[in-house]
Amino acid sequence: MSIKTKLYIAFSSVLAIIIIVGVLVLLTYNQQRDHMTSVVNENYERVKLANQLARYAQGTSREVREILLVDDSDMTRDNIAELRELASDSLDTLSDLSLADQSLIRDLTNYFHDYNDFIDNILVFVERGNGNVALEHLTSNREIRENLLLQVDELVLREETEMESAILGTEVMIHNALLIFLSLITITVIVIIGITFQLTKNINKTINKVRDVMIRVPSSSMDDLPRIEDIRQDEIGDIAVAYNTMADSLEKISKNEKELNESLLNENWIDTNFAYVTAQIQGIQDLQQFSEILLKTVAPIVSATNGVVYITNDRKVLVKGGAFAGNHSNIGQEKFYFGEGLVGQCASDNKMMNIDSLPNNYISTNSGLGVGTPTSLIICPIPFENGVIGVLELAKFEPFTTLQIQFLERVCHSIGISINSIQDHIKISELLIESQTTTEELQTQSEELQQQQEELRMINEKLHEQYKQSDEKTKELEKIRLDLEQRNRDIQLGSKYKTEFLANMSHELRTPLNSILILSQLLHENSEKNLTDTQVQHADTIYSSGKDLLNLINDILDLSKIESGKIEVFPEEVLIEDIKAFVERRFSFIAEQKGIEFTILISENAPSCIVTDDQRLKQILNNLLSNAFKFTDEGKVSLAIKEGIEGDTSKIIFTVTDTGIGITEEKQKNIFDAFYQGDGTTTRKYGGTGLGLSISKNLSKVLGGDLNVISNEGTGSTFYLYLQDYCTDTAPFITEVAATTDVEEEKLIPTNHPVKSNKSSVQSLFIKEEANRNITTKGSFDDKVVLVVDDDMRNIFALTAALEKHNMKVIFAENGKEAITTLRENSAIDIVLMDIMMPVMDGYEAMKMIRDYEEYRELPIIALTAKAMKHDKEKCIEAGASDYISKPVDMEQLLSLIKVWVYK
Ligand code: ADP
Repeated sequence: MSIKTKLYIAFSSVLAIIIIVGVLVLLTYNQQRDHMTSVVNENYERVKLANQLARYAQGTSREVREILLVDDSDMTRDNIAELRELASDSLDTLSDLSLADQSLIRDLTNYFHDYNDFIDNILVFVERGNGNVALEHLTSNREIRENLLLQVDELVLREETEMESAILGTEVMIHNALLIFLSLITITVIVIIGITFQLTKNINKTINKVRDVMIRVPSSSMDDLPRIEDIRQDEIGDIAVAYNTMADSLEKISKNEKELNESLLNENWIDTNFAYVTAQIQGIQDLQQFSEILLKTVAPIVSATNGVVYITNDRKVLVKGGAFAGNHSNIGQEKFYFGEGLVGQCASDNKMMNIDSLPNNYISTNSGLGVGTPTSLIICPIPFENGVIGVLELAKFEPFTTLQIQFLERVCHSIGISINSIQDHIKISELLIESQTTTEELQTQSEELQQQQEELRMINEKLHEQYKQSDEKTKELEKIRLDLEQRNRDIQLGSKYKTEFLANMSHELRTPLNSILILSQLLHENSEKNLTDTQVQHADTIYSSGKDLLNLINDILDLSKIESGKIEVFPEEVLIEDIKAFVERRFSFIAEQKGIEFTILISENAPSCIVTDDQRLKQILNNLLSNAFKFTDEGKVSLAIKEGIEGDTSKIIFTVTDTGIGITEEKQKNIFDAFYQGDGTTTRKYGGTGLGLSISKNLSKVLGGDLNVISNEGTGSTFYLYLQDYCTDTAPFITEVAATTDVEEEKLIPTNHPVKSNKSSVQSLFIKEEANRNITTKGSFDDKVVLVVDDDMRNIFALTAALEKHNMKVIFAENGKEAITTLRENSAIDIVLMDIMMPVMDGYEAMKMIRDYEEYRELPIIALTAKAMKHDKEKCIEAGASDYISKPVDMEQLLSLIKVWVYK
């Protein structure tokens, strides 16, 4: 426990005792004082009440005497009554207060009542007029009053005695409390003195112990300072611990200082000797001399008797550089390989070896006085850069001290550089001689070089001239490049105009073609049987020529789209089975007619479906197969579909093979160019435009594939179409089937081919299916009214003729505005055929306006489009067309559409 805590405990307990005693005395004093006050107050009250009774006895006797002697008045009687009441109250209070003296109070009450009766009797006598009797009664019974007064006195006396004894008791108690308080104070003071004495003695003892140890410090050695033992857990104990710690550190510091001094001395010894050795070997340019001087200097310093130095030139063999023996005998093996013996081992490990117990006959050293055997050996590697350049070996009679080993290490570490520089010096000297010879040779060569340089200078001048010329050419080329860029822009503009021109041309060409096809078809049918066979044949020829022309227009349109990069691709899942069905449908008849065998082969590894533009794929296959049949007169044509590898990726390959005329190697280079034909002369055997393959090749690239040919003239050709992307899911592909009048589709599939259609075409499909069912029951166009809207009278004429043949009534209008007027005037119109490109108001606007009328919301309108662009058709549907058909109109298709919509 700390001294501070001890002092706190001692003084606080003394203080506590004083406080407790003081409080107790104060409490006792207060209690006694309260007790005494209450006793005195009670006694005084009782004395006061008793005196009240005495006053009543004296007062009544005075009043009675007044009545008897002077006057019997009511006032005197009232006084008596009042006094009696007061006395009675006092008696009641007294009997309540004096619990201890109940017998005395009882007597007093009896006397009081006797006295009251006595007074009442006197008053009765006075009232009756017997004054004398009353006086007599008063005088004879005087002892009644005396008794009462005596009893009162006795009570007063008793109370006074009680009061005095209470005061006395209290004084005694206060005196006792004071005595206790004083004796406690005295005990406390004695306890304090005792504690203080004990504490001082303890502290003194400990301090003295510490002081004694500290006094011994100056006379003690710094290595062994005295320590304070038996340490207590208090402040002086803390000082003792601090002192012991200080002594520990002082001892440590002293030890460190000694070690430091020793190491400084050692270092100093090493430095001095090292400087001496360095000075001795400085400037030596010969290895043997270097080795010998090194040994002569180092050996005496470390008291070695024998020594040898080995030096290496090639880091493989250590050759003896010099030896040292006290007796100057020739010692030491001439050379060691790295790893051989202790010397070789030391060199290859680059590690010092120190052997302290050499066998007896290992080395012998003799002097004039005797022979001895050194017992210790040290072998030090001499490092240089990352290897070892030499080894120093020394032997002596006693073991090498640590200091000597450190010194040898330092020497060996520093002499590597000197050995290397001597070796370099030797090499340089050799090289110098060599270089002198070389310099002479070089001088001769230099002269030759100067001559060559002169020649080079001249070449350089020529080159400079050429550079100038080429710079001018570059500028010219830049100008040409700019010209070309301008031309390119012009060409692009031209190409744009060309595309627009072709699109418009196709429209312009289709319009007259429309009437040609319709009318020639009508003539061919010869329904009135008034044409000769030749005339019918002519009509047929006109129709088929018109069809060819239409195909040509379609091809030109495709080519212009491809060239302007406007070709659109609509990828969808295409079933291989569907492709097969299409090809069969289209070419079996031709094959039969030409007597050519036609096979379709789908290999087992072919996927069941691919993702591509169905319509474009069919267009390519159609072209390839058309060509195959066209250029084959006998033999067979086949289509094979399989999976194969092209480049690094796996692809689906469509192969069209024929046994036709074949294509020469030279022509194979050009057949994919636009307008190229194998035989373009006027006497050619096969027709064609030379566009098909060019379009097909381009389309195959647009579809992410390619088209190639392998052919031999006379034996036939094989065309390969590679396509990517198989369907991952081989489940049957559900298509939304819709009839469409898209012209591109029309070229291949006239009706009902699978395409992914928009909502309106799906809707129209259902309408058609339902209508088809109705047609079978109804089925005639009799008296149906058709409004034909077209600005070309030839078209109106052709359509009218064709429709009237089916008993339809035809009304016509030459533009959209007229069409609306005609509609308003004629309520019987069943269907409208609306051309799109018209003056005044075009078909789109006219359809929108017609649909604005409530009554024409459901009126069937079939749009006739000529430009045949996909978005044109969408625009027709948006504008309000029920359906669309492209020009030139296929009458059969038109009639079926009319049927569908009229019977909807
Ligand atoms: P077109 O057939 O209209 O002349 P294409 O572009 O389809 O134009 O073909 C270009 C030319 O390639 C043809 O004129 C023909 O000489 C040659 N050719 C194409 N397919 C074959 C084939 N299967 N056999 C022989 N020659 C072919």
